[in-house]
Amino acid sequence: MQTLNNSPFADTIVTPEKPAKLWMPKRVLFTPDALDEPFGQEIYERVSKYNLPVEILKNNRLTGLRGETERETYKLAKSTLAIVNAPPSAFKLRPIPPSADFQFHLAEGCPAHCQYCYLAGSLQGPPAIRVFANLPLILKNTLHYQLPDRITSFEASCYTDPLSIEHLTGSLAETIRFFSSQTGSHLRFVTKFDAVEPLLHIDHNSRSRWRISLNANIISRRLEGGTAPVSARIEALRKLALPRELGGGNYPIGVVLAPIMPVPNWQEEYRLLLDELMQKLDFPTNLTFELITHRFTPGSKEVLSEWYPNTSLEMDESNRAIKRNKFGGSKYVYLPETMKAMKKFFYREINERFPEAEILYWT
Ligand code: SF4
Repeated sequence: MQTLNNSPFADTIVTPEKPAKLWMPKRVLFTPDALDEPFGQEIYERVSKYNLPVEILKNNRLTGLRGETERETYKLAKSTLAIVNAPPSAFKLRPIPPSADFQFHLAEGCPAHCQYCYLAGSLQGPPAIRVFANLPLILKNTLHYQLPDRITSFEASCYTDPLSIEHLTGSLAETIRFFSSQTGSHLRFVTKFDAVEPLLHIDHNSRSRWRISLNANIISRRLEGGTAPVSARIEALRKLALPRELGGGNYPIGVVLAPIMPVPNWQEEYRLLLDELMQKLDFPTNLTFELITHRFTPGSKEVLSEWYPNTSLEMDESNRAIKRNKFGGSKYVYLPETMKAMKKFFYREINERFPEAEILYWT
């Protein structure tokens, strides 16, 4: 059983939690095509209310996102919100096992700074936040992918954290409303943010499952820059699940525990997290768990090492097992005995505290 004893987590000094703030970009770009879309105009109005510097581009190509170094490019891109139309390729939906039948995208990119970010190596080019103005077409397109024999699940957060930019876009509210009337579809998304109030009173018909991504405090404070504190996320989850008569959203909810890491005292750290969750969810809920251990690929390690050169994230191939996929790609996961011990621990601890909840998968 490996623990990351050599990692800086061993005697880390955690920073105190800061309250979550709404993210504001340093600049907002609109392409002409995006501004032609009615939904693009709605975003323009929302953004204008915040008095943000808005530029209307001369053509539909995004330029000016690169600095002199990779680090400068990262800083420049991560403070830029670009409103664009999704390209034709966004209308060919791909499966996303084990999370959902298909994935689709409201946006690409995220303003947070998680040092293990799943987007590293998945998205090409500078990591600007691109929001899709042709969202109504993207939503309608999901109807072509409904399976004939069962309710089809659609995951909307593979390439973005949709709540992180919701105050500027309104895309998530639009999407929840759309799915509320689709009897053959089910929406899923996940966030590390907590500004859920404006979305509590939307009619969702229980066709959207909000999931909140959680981790042990020691990991989150160290690696999840720019996100809401874990306690605030748990509070948000409570509000989402509470019945309407108690001021909540009455949504089906989920917890995505990710990325799980065997840091020193990991059992104790994760027990504290599950205890806090149990205290806050002290009423009947429709709750699922998804359990995802940390992994990286050669490509994601390369990108993350450029974005976060001083990271304390352990990405030592010699401590890992290789998992290959059918397309010839490989990823580095924890060693089998570590995986086995962690899986046993999480199933036991979750089942003890949340006997009614379903654990959807461990990976
Ligand atoms: S919240 Fe998700 S998408 Fe955003 S930086 Fe963190 S891992 Fe990446």
